[in-house]
Amino acid sequence: MDPTSELGQIWDQILDVLARIVAPDWGALVNLIPLALAPLVLLFVAAVALAWVAYGVRKPRARVRYVLGPRPAEFLPDGTALFPAGYPFDASRALVYPAGAVHGDDGAPLTVACPLCKVERSAELTTCGNCGLVLRIAATTRVAAPSGPPAGGAAAA
Ligand SMILES: [Zn+2]
Repeated sequence: MDPTSELGQIWDQILDVLARIVAPDWGALVNLIPLALAPLVLLFVAAVALAWVAYGVRKPRARVRYVLGPRPAEFLPDGTALFPAGYPFDASRALVYPAGAVHGDDGAPLTVACPLCKVERSAELTTCGNCGLVLRIAATTRVAAPSGPPAGGAAAA
């Protein structure tokens, strides 16, 4: 057995391993790039979807309460009823009615406090007798208007 040829074989193997590290098969490695990127893309898509769902669950929402009828007034700790200015109220039953109401459910006339000077008056009066502030509540109901002129033409209107 020739020791020089054995050493040469070992040296050849070392060179072979080094050649794989220094000059790899780039074509095969380039074909593996999509396999390496696919998990990253999937992770990104999953993170975006998760963030989207999390925002949808936690996003701030406007809380809308429709108060159609009278609501009970708030009370101070000493039992005094608090009536918000500008809203008609029934002091004897401690009920606050929606803006624009003139009579209570039982037909009794309502009272309203002026938002400007806080002087109370009948809800039927739109103008404050003390400061002259006009409390005019516009109707929120929308009425559809005809798109064309009335029957008989525009001149008839
Ligand atoms: Zn007033």
